Order: sequence, then C-alpha cells, then structure tokens
Amino acid sequence: MNDILPDEVVRWQRLEAAFRRHAELQGYAEVRTPIIEQTALFRRQVGETTDIVEKEMYSFERHGDDLTVRPEGTAGAARAYVEHQLAAKEPVSRWYYLGPMFRGERPAKGRYRQFYQAGCELYGDAGPLSDAEIIDLVCGLFRDIGVGEFVVHVNSLGSGGTRDRYRDALLAHFEPRKDKLSDDSQRRLFKNPLRILDSKDPRDREAAAGAPSILDVLDDADRAHWQGLLGYLDALGVPYVADPSLVRGLDYYTRTLFEVKTKAADLGSQNTLCGGGRYDNMIKSLGGPDVPAIGFALGLERLLLSMPDTARKAGPGAVILPLAPEGAKKGLVLARDLRALGVVAELDGRGGKLKTMLARAEKRGAAMCVILGEEVQRGTVAVKDLAARVQDEIPLESAARIIADRLGQPRAVPRPPAQPGDPQTPGPAGEARGPR
Ligand code: ATP
Ligand code: MG
Repeated sequence: MNDILPDEVVRWQRLEAAFRRHAELQGYAEVRTPIIEQTALFRRQVGETTDIVEKEMYSFERHGDDLTVRPEGTAGAARAYVEHQLAAKEPVSRWYYLGPMFRGERPAKGRYRQFYQAGCELYGDAGPLSDAEIIDLVCGLFRDIGVGEFVVHVNSLGSGGTRDRYRDALLAHFEPRKDKLSDDSQRRLFKNPLRILDSKDPRDREAAAGAPSILDVLDDADRAHWQGLLGYLDALGVPYVADPSLVRGLDYYTRTLFEVKTKAADLGSQNTLCGGGRYDNMIKSLGGPDVPAIGFALGLERLLLSMPDTARKAGPGAVILPLAPEGAKKGLVLARDLRALGVVAELDGRGGKLKTMLARAEKRGAAMCVILGEEVQRGTVAVKDLAARVQDEIPLESAARIIADRLGQPRAVPRPPAQPGDPQTPGPAGEARGPR
C-alpha cells in the first residue's frame, strides 16, 4: 500500500481529469458506492474459484455481518444499480467510478495491495456497438495521455450454451494432462476449467498449449455478436488482436472480453493496463431485471508508469516576505487579498536574512516575491519577479491587484461584498477596477 505524496499527486490528478473527460464525453456520470460490501456479493459475482475470492480478499466479520473491502468495482456498482431500481428509471445507464481497490496479492512493480481503478459500466445495451464504443473510449484516453504503444486483446466467452460446450471441450483437453497442472489448477479442473487458461504458472501454460479455442464453439447468436464487434472495431481503427486465450480472472463475464496491454513500458507481467468485458447475467443474478451490461477497469498506477513524466507541481504565485515590524500585519492582509483574486499566496513568517528568504521562495518555485521591508513606511512594497529577475516598488494599497495582473490571473473572481474602509477591496465581480 503506497503513500502518494503531493509531488506525485499532480500526475494522478491529470490522469483522473483526463479519464473523467473521456468518460463524460460518452455520457457517463460518476457513481460513488461504499468501499465495503457484503462478502457474499463478491463470492457470488467474482466467483468462488477465482484467485481474488480464494486468496486475495480482505474480509472480516463485524456486528454479525461478513464484510469485504472491495477488490473491484463492478459488483458494488451492479448491487447499487439493482438496489436503486435504475432499470425502471432509465433504459440505459452509463456510470463511471474512480477509487481504491484492495487485494492481498504478492506486491511487485505495478502490483499493490491497495491500488486505484477508474472504470465505466454501461447497463441496458446488449451491444456489440456499445462494446466497440466502450473499448474506443479507453483507446481515446490512452492516446490523449500519451500511453506508448498499446494493443487491445479481444475475445468472446459466448453465453450460456456456449460456455457449457466449451467447458466440456476444455475438460477433455486437460483431464489427460491433470498431473502436469499446478496445484490450484488440479483443484479447479472440474469446478471451473476455464480458470486454468488464466493461470500464469508455467506448468499450466504448457498444458494449455493446443487447448481448443472458444471461438470454434460459439453458437450463431454469439458468433454474430463477435463478428459485429470486430467490424465496428475495424471501422474505428482500434488496434486490436483477436485472442482466444484471453479469459480473465473473474467469473462474471459473458461474450465480449478485452484487455489493453502496453508494449512500451517495462512492466513485465504487469503490462495489462485495462481489463473489461460484458456481464449480461449479473443484474439478474442480483435479483434485478434481465439487463445486459458491459464495463472495464483501468489500473491507475500502471497507467502512470506508462505515461510520459511531464506534469510538475506548480509553485505559488507569490511568496510574501515580511521584514519590517509592520510587515507581518500588512503581509497577512495582502496574502488574503491576493487569494481573493485567485493568486496562490504563501506567507513566509520564519524571518531571517532577506537573501535566505528569497532563496527559500525560489526553491518553492514561486513566480514572485513581495518584500515588506522598510518601504512599508512609505506605503510601498518591493516586488521581485523570480523568473525575469527584475524588481520594482509598487503602492501597497493596490499591490494585490497589480500582482494579480502581472501573474495573469482572471480579473473577475467572485468575492463577498466590499467591506467599508478596506482600501484594497476591489469592486463586485466583473467590474473594471481602475487604480484608486
Ligand atoms: P492482472 O492479471 O494483471 O493481475 P487482473 O486481471 O487481476 O490483472 P482486473 O481485476 O481486471 O485485473 O483489474 C483491471 C486492472 O486493474 C488491471 O488491468 C490492472 O491494470 C489493475 N490491477 C489489478 N490488480 C492490481 C494490483 N494488485 N495492483 C495494481 N493494479 C492492479
Ligand atoms: Mg490479478
């Protein structure tokens, strides 16, 4: 679990803002659900034989409830969708979420126990047009934030009948190879042979070579859906490969399944930046109506490792240095007036030599320093532009406005009505403020 310090948060905020923008452009609206849900929700939806449920969940009992700190966002969102009867309110719902998830797995670069996901869920449209659009949303975001080379792996898991036929075909393949499988896979063989395809264990990998492809057992409706999707992805120019070995680590998927992998970043087996797919049975299995759904989740840490490192934390607009005895009081008021005009202002009250104070302000990355020395007696302050390295004196009375102008701050900052007797209070928002 990581601390994310303010210097790093700048990049997080840029990524989160880009995600929100791309999701909102496709009509998605944010949903916020609890971080803790009933354990049974994840057991049933994510699946009893998945790694997440078998080994990774942070579960506990409190006040007679079996609870789990969410390992993923889809099940909780679907629970909320059913609980608040969204299907009766609107035929199609588009939701996005952003927040921490928790899985007790072995940590590595790009694999943590608390990590952040941003995801979208689309309820009420069976696709495949919506499947193509939601995949394209991810690609548009990745291009925008500068993720290097990436490729979308797509597969279809079919629906009810197809899954049963495929299970039989997989069993026929793996049963003669049972002894060569990992312990997990031997145990899961009869319960859920599909899970073996998702294993990263080299023994399972080897045994899976030559396993039948699900694409060969799709029924007509599943095949039409799959081919429709590929046609739409072609039309959008999405960089994809059809990958029949893709199964993913959660049980709830039906039909469309996808993962976006980066080729550029050195993330090893943590190169999957996004996972998603259709889960047409979940809403019904939670007691809701028969509503199809599709969604995806992006891993924000892995995305940040794949993004160019450009964003920098901006320093304050002005650092105020009170030197004279009167400087502190005037400085407090000036800082407040600057902030009212939208300038990030910091007051450095630690004292010391002017040279030291200037050096500290420069280290903070400030654009300007305002020095309140003996010139305050004359009703002026010294302003030093730290980038241009020029200094001049301006009247204290109009200092806030002059500095805000120099920093190019917007003129119309809403603020409370003028206080009588406050010489530096500008007029109402939007009004031209000439020198007094
Ligand atoms: P992986 O196969 O890499 O373990 P997953 O299939 O378990 O991924 P999902 O549950 O589909 O992952 O989650 C979607 C995305 O969330 C992943 O593609 C990845 O970017 C990110 N993610 C998943 N688990 C972690 C983790 N422990 N730490 C950081 N990011 C993670
Ligand atoms: Mg995983």
